[in-house]
Amino acid sequence: MEIAGKKIAIIGAVKSGIASAQLAKKLGAVPFVSDGSPKDKLLHAHQVFEKENIAYEFGEHSAKVYDCDFIVTSPGVPTNSMVLSTAIEKGIKIYSEVEFASWFCKGSIISITGTNGKTTTTALMNHTLNECGIKCFAAGNIGNPFSEIALEVKEDEFVALETSSFQLDFTVKFKPHFSMILNITPDHLDRYDNNFDKYAASKIRIAANQTEEDFFIYNADDTNTFETMKNSRVQKLAFSLKKEIPVGAYHKNGDMCFAWFGKVSKVCSSNDLFIKGEHNIANALAVMAIAKLLNIPNQKIRDAFASFKGVEHRIEFVRELEGVEYYNDSKATNVDSVIVALKTFTKPIYLILGGKDKGNNYDDIKELVKENVKKIYAIGVSAQKVEDYFGAFVQTEKKESLLACVEAARNEAEAGSVLLLSPACASFDMFEDYMHRGNIFKQVVKGLK
Ligand code: ADP
Repeated sequence: MEIAGKKIAIIGAVKSGIASAQLAKKLGAVPFVSDGSPKDKLLHAHQVFEKENIAYEFGEHSAKVYDCDFIVTSPGVPTNSMVLSTAIEKGIKIYSEVEFASWFCKGSIISITGTNGKTTTTALMNHTLNECGIKCFAAGNIGNPFSEIALEVKEDEFVALETSSFQLDFTVKFKPHFSMILNITPDHLDRYDNNFDKYAASKIRIAANQTEEDFFIYNADDTNTFETMKNSRVQKLAFSLKKEIPVGAYHKNGDMCFAWFGKVSKVCSSNDLFIKGEHNIANALAVMAIAKLLNIPNQKIRDAFASFKGVEHRIEFVRELEGVEYYNDSKATNVDSVIVALKTFTKPIYLILGGKDKGNNYDDIKELVKENVKKIYAIGVSAQKVEDYFGAFVQTEKKESLLACVEAARNEAEAGSVLLLSPACASFDMFEDYMHRGNIFKQVVKGLK
């Protein structure tokens, strides 16, 4: 794609907006960045644009936006926002930042989407390829924008690209060599007019331009994906926790197997995975399918799975002290994530629950809590709600801080149990974000004597 001399309007001046403006400039185009937030919220962008002489406006989307050859939009900009709707009315082409970056990437793209598990799977994919001697970059939602690294990736190298549905919304020609949908469950429906089909359709765009030389990996245990893909020409591989798969990866009796038209190889055992939980076996099966397509030997995959320590704040092991294991799952900001966490452990759990509640309905975890949880420490603005709901059937105690929870567990939890921070709530009532909450928890746990 030749963009030299083209006028490109970039919507959004946070990470991916900054990176796409820099990429556009480097390639000889004329970027103009527009962000509706005020300057004091965009100090980094301001600094970069001033230094690199990139044109911008903050605090509004003026008519200047529409004086362009095309628009590149950032994932944070709602699909139905005024600025994009107006551009569509005017017939201006809009591309998402990942599509834009993909035009200039010579390497193979492994695009990973799904409602849950994207970051973990992207990180595991990246780790596995690099450990096995194949150069791979991790990019996208995972933290560093694709535009930042697109030009660095050589022809025989790979990008594990965490791709959210927001990034897929404005893809037109995006054509990853490998694409993956981990699962599709209702989430972010507010951005899709509360319409699940629209949300699912957005995820399925990941494979829209793939052809017979490309591969699509999907979850055979999740019925929402495959139907819409049935007639596409891409080569399809499934993964499953529940059944044997003729072409793809599955888990049976503790073995993680890869099947290729009837030929089955046992690649490793799920015990080889350092990261815990059935959900992580599913994530690893998806990664394994691609690793096998790349002809990586089983032993190397096994070693890579064993040495991957997981992503911070996702059922992250912090330490063991006198037989009690401490886990940080601060990223669990909804009830679904807590289900996954509670299913991960067979040991009795002391659970820290609560925070800024997004309308949680705890009915879905009631039985699991009854079975697996010994005591709940309730925190944050929803502490009372947590106590009211769970107090009737499990010991529940309100606490003022994470420190108070951890100190109480230090005294109360017996050897062989787990203290788990998996709060089912956002963190903004007490912390800057979930990472801040997780870091405070880890600090307190590490300080225990
Ligand atoms: P994402 O990037 O999609 O938000 P993460 O890898 O950050 O996903 O994981 C977030 C949470 O989602 C985890 O803490 C876990 O509770 C849950 N999760 C991870 N993988 C899966 C999966 N395959 N299926 C269901 N839930 C999962």
